[in-house]
Amino acid sequence: MRLDALPPMDLPARTRRLRERFADAGVDALLVTRLPNVRYLTGFTGSAAMLLVGAEESVFVSDGRYRDQAGEQLGVAGVDARIEISTTQAGQRATLSGVVEPGARLGLEAHGVTWAQQRDFAAEWFPEADLVPTEHLVEGLRRVKDAGEVARIRAACALADDALAELAPTLARRPTEREFALRLELAMREGGASGTSFDTIVAAGPNGAKPHVRPSDRRIGIGELIVIDFGCVVDGYCSDMTRTVSVGDPGPDARRLFEVVLESQAEGRAAVRSGATCVEVDRACRDVIEAAGWGDAFLHGTGHGVGIEIHEAPRVAATSSDTLASGYVVTVEPGVYLTGVGGVRIEDTVVVTPDGADALTTFPKDLLL
Ligand code: ZN
Ligand code: ZN
Repeated sequence: MRLDALPPMDLPARTRRLRERFADAGVDALLVTRLPNVRYLTGFTGSAAMLLVGAEESVFVSDGRYRDQAGEQLGVAGVDARIEISTTQAGQRATLSGVVEPGARLGLEAHGVTWAQQRDFAAEWFPEADLVPTEHLVEGLRRVKDAGEVARIRAACALADDALAELAPTLARRPTEREFALRLELAMREGGASGTSFDTIVAAGPNGAKPHVRPSDRRIGIGELIVIDFGCVVDGYCSDMTRTVSVGDPGPDARRLFEVVLESQAEGRAAVRSGATCVEVDRACRDVIEAAGWGDAFLHGTGHGVGIEIHEAPRVAATSSDTLASGYVVTVEPGVYLTGVGGVRIEDTVVVTPDGADALTTFPKDLLL
């Protein structure tokens, strides 16, 4: 996979859309401190930066480690921001405080700022400003993916598909969970991924009853349900897929468990379309599992948004207030977990379209290898 084959993205348009939200949010400027949001707006991939988006201009601050990288990345993205590199907090503070007018309403990302930071911002950085707590202003923009973002998520999903296709036959040699997880991760990296999008889960037999268990040194058995949940990152965008497989027949009870979750996942996917509520999608999955008598063993929500972060808006769950729209990328991942026995989870990442959804993860959903 070649990064230069991915379509370009219009990052400056994102800041313009953000500014359009300032009036409703009751702010004149926003201090973006959450790094995924800084990346979304500027293309900067480093580990420390802040972006102050004013009504007219933007100011980006980072430290000396990123002296060259910041200019390069913002330049490539075509982002029009003043870049100030300072190795001291005092230097960054002087830069940012100098561009906020006394009395200006400065939004902070309340869901990302610590209590200590807020106290510092109020007392030391912006004592003359009116600090306004905001929530999810940039994340709100990030819900709808543009074509370039979908292409990156699709590429990450394809790498994960290919890695599993290459390695699934090796399960017959009974690797440990950890060995198999490591091989999957290596295959995705070799394919061009920059890393995993979360800690790979390989959980066989009774371990599969714990939805987010870590891979162990236990050898995978013949005839065991194997839950494999994994993903990678391509140019900053994540993939997420779960398959449950077995080497050899796992027996009628396990087959029944698999069939119920497979039907649940198909119903959930069929419910995904622009205008559907996340509650409806969750309900479609849950109905099938409840009818089979396993409602209490579906231990988590049905899905989540995927993008720069592996878990982002919207939440697809029974208590969600979100409604799907075209361009959202979400997972559909029902599961049933039976203590001491095992588990089944099946997950796709899909992009919402006006009349349905396109699956970005396409690995077959066959139980038997
Ligand atoms: Zn997953
Ligand atoms: Zn997921």
